[in-house]
Amino acid sequence: AHAGSALAELAMQLAGRWPPLTPGLHTLAFEAGRVELLLGLGDARELLRELVLQADALYLDGFAPQRNPELWDDWLLRSLSRLAAPGASAATWSIHRPMRRALAALGFEVALAPGFAGKPEMTVARFAPRHTPQRPAGREPLAPGARRTVIVGAGLAGAACALALSRQGVDCTVVEALPGPAQASSGNPAGLFHGTVNADDGLHARFNRAAALATQACLAELAVPHQRGLLRLETRLPLARMAGVPGYVEALSADEASALAGTGLAHPAWYYPGGGAIEPAAYARAMLAASGAALRLATPIAALREVPQGWQLLDAAGALVEEAPLVVLAGGHGQLPLLGGPLVDLADELTLQRGQLTHLTEAPWCPPLPVAGGGYVIADGGGGVWCGATAQDGDLDPALREADQADNLQRYAALAGLPGPQGTPLSIPLAGRVAWRHEAPGD
Ligand SMILES: Cc1cc2nc3c(=O)[nH]c(=O)nc-3n(C[C@H](O)[C@H](O)[C@H](O)COP(=O)(O)OP(=O)(O)OC[C@H]3O[C@@H](n4cnc5c(N)ncnc54)[C@H](O)[C@@H]3O)c2cc1C
Repeated sequence: AHAGSALAELAMQLAGRWPPLTPGLHTLAFEAGRVELLLGLGDARELLRELVLQADALYLDGFAPQRNPELWDDWLLRSLSRLAAPGASAATWSIHRPMRRALAALGFEVALAPGFAGKPEMTVARFAPRHTPQRPAGREPLAPGARRTVIVGAGLAGAACALALSRQGVDCTVVEALPGPAQASSGNPAGLFHGTVNADDGLHARFNRAAALATQACLAELAVPHQRGLLRLETRLPLARMAGVPGYVEALSADEASALAGTGLAHPAWYYPGGGAIEPAAYARAMLAASGAALRLATPIAALREVPQGWQLLDAAGALVEEAPLVVLAGGHGQLPLLGGPLVDLADELTLQRGQLTHLTEAPWCPPLPVAGGGYVIADGGGGVWCGATAQDGDLDPALREADQADNLQRYAALAGLPGPQGTPLSIPLAGRVAWRHEAPGD
């Protein structure tokens, strides 16, 4: 929109949310999440295969049918009709006859209307298929009519579900066993968020990138305080030959990375300008508040019972606590007893992994931004750092352990370029936190 247009302010908002130009789908939220724009960056023909949605309006603006027919041909129009809700409108500035014929053959009622921006005519259409197209299996929403849900667990996962579902108009209640939100794994004092780079931009890299960019956008929207910018040391990929993406990730030499980190780093690094570190509980609380979900604390759920209307959630005495057509289990490892019946196989496949973080109250090196790679270091804002973390599969010991602390200090010393934990500055009283990660097969 041009400066003089009535849309200038909306255009500014859009420009402000425009993501780094990484390929794939980006969800941009406006008006406190009431308006979402799903932006696909890449080849439209590939992206169309991935979309699962029902559109009420389609606008074709793929340049010009004569110049780039691949954005107007039968295959592309059929793909669009697959996404159109019955009654959906379609429009385009073009009046290309083969395109209009193809739309009509796909079940659109096609007409010409007065054009705009100097064009005498444009095409308008309405999707009125004789038969409602069969959607491929798995493309229907899980619980299409559900307008209310109960979420078990008020950690990061439960809070994120509450926010996402409330933005879809679903009324959410979150039940939490502990006296406050985010006191289990999400109660760690600090955590990193950032994308991943790999040479072939595989599924893992794309998934982590989408998650990192969504986290960045959500933190900004909810004004959650966080440390911005993150360095991840790279020891395997030939970083000098890999292209970064401005605003998302940049490849830095060891010298450049060291200058940012304030210490001599041993390796080149990926710099994620929008990544960083947060206090996970602050993030979870912000998402819960923004969701407007009802929060029931100190309410452990002991069992689930399926009933014709959905699910009942019961306490240890078998009394009804909540009932809803849709239940989301976001209870981390504490919910494993709930995963009985058909889900028992899933519970068997999950691995619990203990992790210990270490707190160094007076750190010889306190990086101005989080640094990761063979461990990580996050400044605590008061002259100390959090560093970690250990990983022990199937270990349920909740106590802090000296041996694990020594491992963490070793990681810290290696990142900082210090001689090792034996030196006086790093021999500290036992301090830190233990929590558990949940690993699914293929993690
Ligand atoms: C040492 C360590 C370091 C980590 N570092 C990072 C990091 O840097 N970056 C990162 O992204 N991730 C990190 N993680 C992982 C991250 O902490 C977890 O993925 C995340 O906190 C999981 O959130 P959650 O909501 O699934 O689980 P939780 O935070 O554990 O929340 C589950 C909630 O459900 C409640 N609950 C369980 N059962 C019931 C029940 N039956 N009834 C009612 N309530 C119930 C629990 O009380 C709990 O509050 C780290 C993990 C560890 C252990």
